[in-house]
Amino acid sequence: MQPEHEQSTRRPRGRPERHPSRRAVLGAGVGLLAAGGLASARSQPERTGPKPSAGKAKNVIFLVVDGMSIGTFTIADMVMRERGGGSPESGSHWANLWSKPGVRRSMMSTRAADSLVTDSAAGGSAWGCGRRLYNGSICFDTNEGELEPILVSAKRAGKATGLVSTARITHATPASFVATVPRRSMEKIIAEQELERGVDVLLGGGAGNFSDDLLAGHPDLTIVRDASSMRRAAGVEGRLLGLFTDDHMSYELDRPDTEPHIREMAMLAIERLSKHENGFVLQVEAGRVDHGGHANDFPAILHDQLAFEETIEAVTNWVADRKREEGLDDTLVIITTDHGNGGPQLTLYGDEARRGLDTLLGTTHTLSWMLGQLRGRPREDWASGLRDLVREHAGVTLSDEQVDWALKPTRGERVDPFRGANSLVSAVGKVMADHYGIAFVSKNHTAEHVEATAFGPGSESLTHRIENYELHALMVNALGLT
Ligand SMILES: [Zn+2]
Repeated sequence: MQPEHEQSTRRPRGRPERHPSRRAVLGAGVGLLAAGGLASARSQPERTGPKPSAGKAKNVIFLVVDGMSIGTFTIADMVMRERGGGSPESGSHWANLWSKPGVRRSMMSTRAADSLVTDSAAGGSAWGCGRRLYNGSICFDTNEGELEPILVSAKRAGKATGLVSTARITHATPASFVATVPRRSMEKIIAEQELERGVDVLLGGGAGNFSDDLLAGHPDLTIVRDASSMRRAAGVEGRLLGLFTDDHMSYELDRPDTEPHIREMAMLAIERLSKHENGFVLQVEAGRVDHGGHANDFPAILHDQLAFEETIEAVTNWVADRKREEGLDDTLVIITTDHGNGGPQLTLYGDEARRGLDTLLGTTHTLSWMLGQLRGRPREDWASGLRDLVREHAGVTLSDEQVDWALKPTRGERVDPFRGANSLVSAVGKVMADHYGIAFVSKNHTAEHVEATAFGPGSESLTHRIENYELHALMVNALGLT
């Protein structure tokens, strides 16, 4: 099922304000406030972010989980602790980093220039080009046009570059590190820019945006289409393009073996890029936690979040091994999310919370997968079909009343006074909240501040509270890019 994740790509209306030059922005760490922004956003943000630590890092690995609300993080941590015997150390790899020497944390704002609630294009562009832009923009300013994304700067400095995503590789978050387009929906142009701008490793979904003509124009690429051919190509020199699905890759819970795990893609990218003598910049995105949020689908969210946690562990071990075995402490690692989504929380007391987690862990397919199956059936079979699918794949027997509630939106009826929570996925999510104990506030992104964690050279510049665009300056400074 296609997730309901596309956000408005509308540009801000009204007369544009004068913007400071890019140099001034980078130098001062000040973001742009586009016309149409709220009054409170017009005052110049105080500089609380990174301080120069020029050129200490040879490599940057940027790990981003798209659309992670704190409830998502919390429930994944709980599940990991349960599986690991209950001690705090057995929980989230991300959280366990915080007690290690040299690891810094920050609470980060996420807003866009034209909206208190960001989309992934503006959120990613804040990191990619250091500016607060309008929702839908990929490193493209209304007045100044194209801004330079960090992978272009890194390439100019002689570094290797890479993008890994479980979403389409042309989707907003990977695009925001290399592409420059006014609308995120221009994914065929983003595909061209990714290839023309020389990204060395591209692994993800989105084959539908790479035409045969486009690929024919880049004969130097090794192209792989499934996990086993990716493994066989691991030692082949040159640029690597892995396109494993036409659209987004599968949710981890539904993933067939033909599609690689995000950890495997990330580590293969690191192995290749780290052979480059001038270092590398790599973004790895767990792109579908966001889609699970839009779909109010906690089984989808949980297993993609756990896969991201495994990726954190593998990357952290790679950095530690490099330090121990080769004496190299030259890699800045940043772990964060671009915004919350759906705001899921475990919110029933006592045994119900425990039973909810057990039911969640016993669910063998995502709710999105189940609804995809349902949509393939005649409408008159949906009530019995939903009951059967949920019984078979979630181990839950829905009552007649619950089935009726779940299907209300298909009859044009509302399930919630809040207009952000009325759709088939919201209704199914609300019915499943009685079984998982996990409820969502909406099927939209949320404006909550988010966690940013960093370690390695340059991370000492991370202060306790930053604006999202300040992470760009932190990376640029750490790498000594101009
Ligand atoms: Zn989204």
